[in-house]
Amino acid sequence: MNRIQKFFTSILPAQSAKSMEADSRQWFMKCMECGFEESYWDLGGIRWKAAGNSRNLRKCPNCGKRSWHQTYKKETDDPEDPMQAPDS
Ligand SMILES: [Zn+2]
Repeated sequence: MNRIQKFFTSILPAQSAKSMEADSRQWFMKCMECGFEESYWDLGGIRWKAAGNSRNLRKCPNCGKRSWHQTYKKETDDPEDPMQAPDS
């Protein structure tokens, strides 16, 4: 975790911090040149309660090109999501 992430996780109640991390982990940046993707959280970013896709011009760590990266939310089966729990 970087400084910003530590800051937020330390000031927020545990529940919110978890939700923030889980949410940020669902956001990915995908290189439109080679298809390489990284999660926002792993990039040291926070994207919480956000919606919509955006594009960023950045250098891809995989292909090394300065290319457009699509930001998008990956809908995953979150085992901690009460809506998806089998016995709820
Ligand atoms: Zn790339």
